[in-house]
Amino acid sequence: MHAPDGHTRTCGLIGNPVAHTLSPLIQNHMAQATGQNLVYLPFPVARDDLGAAVRGALALGFLGLNVTVPYKSDVIAHLAEIDPLAERIGAVNTLVRCPGGFKGYNTDMPGLYRAMEQDGVEIAGRDVVILGAGGVARAVAVMLLYRGAAGVHILNRTEDKARAVAQEVNSMAGRTFARAYALADYGQIPGADWLVVQATSAGMHPRVEDAPIEAPEFYRHVEIGYDLIFNPGVTRFMKLTENSGGRAYNGAKMLVYQGIIAFELWTGTTISQSTADELCRMMAQA
Ligand code: NAP
Repeated sequence: MHAPDGHTRTCGLIGNPVAHTLSPLIQNHMAQATGQNLVYLPFPVARDDLGAAVRGALALGFLGLNVTVPYKSDVIAHLAEIDPLAERIGAVNTLVRCPGGFKGYNTDMPGLYRAMEQDGVEIAGRDVVILGAGGVARAVAVMLLYRGAAGVHILNRTEDKARAVAQEVNSMAGRTFARAYALADYGQIPGADWLVVQATSAGMHPRVEDAPIEAPEFYRHVEIGYDLIFNPGVTRFMKLTENSGGRAYNGAKMLVYQGIIAFELWTGTTISQSTADELCRMMAQA
């Protein structure tokens, strides 16, 4: 690794909390692998300081920033430009220097798309079941619309939130692309062999015994269960999927690819497949 010197470029992560983030591991590994003189550091930022943090990073010559919970939407007010996909999704996780400030991107969803491609999960023309209706579930629905899925079935504990997300995505689509259900109403989903994206926080460390749905009748239909949680590496949702004969994936590859896309935007370099594979192995052990 380059020892920091007068030419070192800085990138960072802002959010609150950031103490347990894996992004420095991912980003500094890529800097080393590509021979870039770059360091990446986490910065906890209080809500009232968000604008000052973005302006400060700009003034200090930062190459870019990642933005995490709870600021992915609030940071939009502090940008000079925004990428159209990020604008549609309504969440920005990557800031790249541009004339007059930072341009905001969403690399979470392109990251998920690349992860699914790598795992051989086809989206185009397919109906997809989404569990959850939070910020990430909404972003997944928008990504699936843009990537040519046939439609999405959004199931959420709070059904009203699923309805609101479906309505928003349908108005973007100009047709009925998304349908909303309560979690218990999975019996209304047509077809068999579902691709299910698990976008709730149920089962995330430390509540590892939780799953959004327990019913074996649900899991009997799941051909592919794609959990966006990466800690633990095997969630209860994944175990239930596999126990019923389905294939299950976790969110570690999504985390790696959102980081790769951000690094490529900042540095203009391309990360090789072998470095990407190495990062995925590192995340499996982190
Ligand atoms: P969020 O906005 O807080 O939404 C949480 C969602 O989970 C809501 O739909 C909520 O339902 C549901 N939920 C929470 N506890 C539940 C339970 N016990 N049973 C059923 N549903 C439950 O969160 P988010 O920002 O969308 O993030 C969702 C997940 O995405 C996170 O847990 C994280 O693991 C994952 N994620 C992964 C990556 C990655 O790189 N792999 C990146 C970002 C996020 P209600 O509406 O009823 O409350």
